[in-house]
Formats: sequence, C-alpha cells, structure tokens
Amino acid sequence: MPAVLDDITSEILDLKKSIGATILAHYYQEGEIQEIADITGDSLKLAREATKVETPVIVFCGVLFMAETAKMLNPSKKVLLPDLKAGCSLVDSCPPEKLHRYQEMLRANGRKFQTVTYINSSASVKALSDWIVTSGNAEDVVRNRVPADCEILFVPDQHLGRYLQEVTGREMILWDGSCMVHEIFSVHDLVKMKRTNPGAQVIAHPECPRNILEHAEFIGGTEAMIVYVGKHKEPTTFLVATEPNMMWQLESRSPQHKYLGVPGITCACNKCPHMARNTLEKIRDCMRNGSPEIHWQPEFDRAKEVLTRSLLNPPVPVAVKVSAYPHGD
Ligand code: SF4
Repeated sequence: MPAVLDDITSEILDLKKSIGATILAHYYQEGEIQEIADITGDSLKLAREATKVETPVIVFCGVLFMAETAKMLNPSKKVLLPDLKAGCSLVDSCPPEKLHRYQEMLRANGRKFQTVTYINSSASVKALSDWIVTSGNAEDVVRNRVPADCEILFVPDQHLGRYLQEVTGREMILWDGSCMVHEIFSVHDLVKMKRTNPGAQVIAHPECPRNILEHAEFIGGTEAMIVYVGKHKEPTTFLVATEPNMMWQLESRSPQHKYLGVPGITCACNKCPHMARNTLEKIRDCMRNGSPEIHWQPEFDRAKEVLTRSLLNPPVPVAVKVSAYPHGD
C-alpha cells in the first residue's frame, strides 16, 4: 500500500469496506492496481483464491475469462470486472462453434481424443473441454491425467502446446491460437540484450514462441518465475520475456536483482492492451455502480464442472520449469 494515499486510492479503500469487496489482481495489471489488491496472482492462483473469498463482492482486476472463472468457482458472489471489454487474443482465436466443428470432424474420423484447454478461453470453449490447464498445472494434466490411449487436442495456445509436447514427449493436435503479447518479442533485441548484459538470465513465459524459449535459462508461468528468481540470493540481471507489469511483482518480492523487459518487435513496452483497460478510475466506478457485473450464463454449468476437477481437485501440481530447448547461444 502506498505510504501516502491519493484521493482515488482512499475512495477505493472506503468503497471496499462499505460494499464488502475483495480485490483480486493479475500480475499483468499496473503496479498501482496490484498495490491496492488484497490478492495478486497468476490465473491458477487467482482461480483458487476466488473460491475462498468470503466478502459478498469480488472485484476482479484482470480480463473477462478470469472474472468468469471466479464467478463459476464462487457463484454466490457478485463479481465485478472494471471493464467488460478487457478480452484476450487467445480467447478470440478459438470461437466455440469452430472448436465444436473440429471436434466433430475428429470424431467422425474415428479419432479418440480428449480436449485440453488453456484457461485463456471462453466459458463456451471450457464447456467443450475435458481439462482446463494453466501454465502452472498443464504439465501435470498432460502427463498424468489424460489417458494414455487418447490423443490430445490442445487449444488455443499453440506455443504452450508445442512446449508441453517437448517436455512431456506427448504428441498433440495443436490449435493455431497465440497471445498477441508473447508472440511478438523481438529475438533480435533479446540476443543484443544478452550480449550487452553478460551473465544475465532470460526468464520466459511458455506462451512465447520457440525462437524466444530457445534463449531462456528458465521457462515458466508467472508464479514459477517468482519462485525461480527468489531462489537466487546473489544480485542477478534477469531479462524478462512476459508482460512487463510482471516486473513490478518481481521487483517487490526480490528487489536485490535487476530486471530488464524484453521489447516487442513493434512496441518497446509490449504491454497487454486488454489488461491495460483496467484503471484505478474504472475500479472505483465499478464499485460505486455495482457494474459491470459477470452474470451466470447457461454454459457456465458444464464449464464449472471441468474447471473444478481440473484446478481444484488435482494431485500435487507440477510447475512448468527449466527449459526443454537447447539454449540458442
Ligand atoms: S497477455 Fe496475452 S494471454 Fe494474457 S490477457 Fe493479454 S492477450 Fe490474453
């Protein structure tokens, strides 16, 4: 919490008390939003934490599919999303009708498969799935939970799917979706940064394409990155290939290190425009107005079943970890 509260932060904290709200914020939110949150986390942590919220209201500072997940897992709560237009390019890349047609085609061809779906997907797509995964539990589900005699249709993130193929050795049918942020890191700039920062370590999210992951000393989701960096006691330079707001969280937890964001091809900051839709003003307004609110949709019933058995009743989750790819240089 900031030492001196500005007006808007004070208003948010007052509203939080008066309406009985818990604020959840994703690591890709601006630092000023993470700072006022009760809980920060990646998709998996926030989904699990949402089930434990006891206040009547959850204010979800993230994108739509995350707020929907919180509603599905804790349906008696009023879930507010500061901006309903906060979407995700991965969600957009996998329309449910298209997935349904593809599944029907595979079945018509006699293929026995299960659909493993990254949590960055719509509720309708989750409802068409056998398993929901995040970068934190994906390896475990692929290794241990999908029967060995089934093929895997992995949707919608082709890069995470390809990475999982490499680390588990399990072949998959990959959907061709991708994250607009992680897809466009500049390899050219990354190689240059490695040269100018000898001894620096590259930490990369598995949503990045292979040409970036090949240069990484560590590959993992945001929660796994925090743990990895925290294990380094000596001051180290980390070149970070994920949404740049993550560096706020890393700097807060392990300030002994230096963090440099890997730039995008077209944009030096490479921030997620969907996450950036949430602002302190919109957080205050949604608490004042009690909207935008996530309402229960018919597809939530089936999606909730899949979410619950995938994320809430798993065996011990296995973090996606150390690179499966040979280092590029
Ligand atoms: S960073 Fe990528 S995956 Fe995450 S919300 Fe933005 S577009 Fe979606």
